[in-house]
Amino acid sequence: VPVLDTAYFLRWLSASSELFRREGARLTALDAAVGDGDHGANMVRGFDAVCEAVEQNAPATPGELFALAGTTLTNSVGGASGPLFGMALRRTGKRLGTGEPVTPDELAAALRAGAEAVGKLGGAVPGDSTLLDALLPALDAFDGDGTFVAARDAALAGAEATGPMQAKKGRASYLGERSIGHQDAGAHSVVLLFDALVLAAD
Ligand code: ADP
Ligand code: MG
Ligand code: MG
Repeated sequence: VPVLDTAYFLRWLSASSELFRREGARLTALDAAVGDGDHGANMVRGFDAVCEAVEQNAPATPGELFALAGTTLTNSVGGASGPLFGMALRRTGKRLGTGEPVTPDELAAALRAGAEAVGKLGGAVPGDSTLLDALLPALDAFDGDGTFVAARDAALAGAEATGPMQAKKGRASYLGERSIGHQDAGAHSVVLLFDALVLAAD
């Protein structure tokens, strides 16, 4: 794990924005199969707005950066994913406090608090075929082995495992059993966010 300072997380946000641009069409295709086909566009718009916000406000600590990113996502994305990812980042930022840099243990605990807040806000539990099915395995892997590569790989396995699940939350749940056989778009966005943590380290 690299030094977890503000500069590192700024690189993470740019890498995330770049990955969403590159993979947006794929995310949208996943969402189109069981939802309204806007997930890629939502994440691209959201992370563009986040990059602009950090440029204008120059957060001084990782905690401030996460809080600003979360608020911006919530305010700039109309879909379910904006408030949910926004909550995750905002709660993570609040939990990080004012440390600079933060330790891997602090980050792990803060991300865990963020994931719990998402569960509370959206009411999803593991197995509902949502972004939590990638996020929770990623956090378990990060706790256990402590590398972003392990977390990213666990997120990908979790996202792929949503295929056979029946969606219980969000638009995909409207399809009932017909949602079975489709991987969750939001779970794949989680993979990109952890991939960006890996990329920002180089
Ligand atoms: P919308 O469904 O409003 O169009 P998006 O397409 O941007 O929003 O995002 C859909 C994603 O949001 C889903 O793939 C899923 O991962 C996530 N999601 C939706 N509802 C919930 C929920 N209640 N809890 C957790 N995640 C959810
Ligand atoms: Mg959608
Ligand atoms: Mg929508």
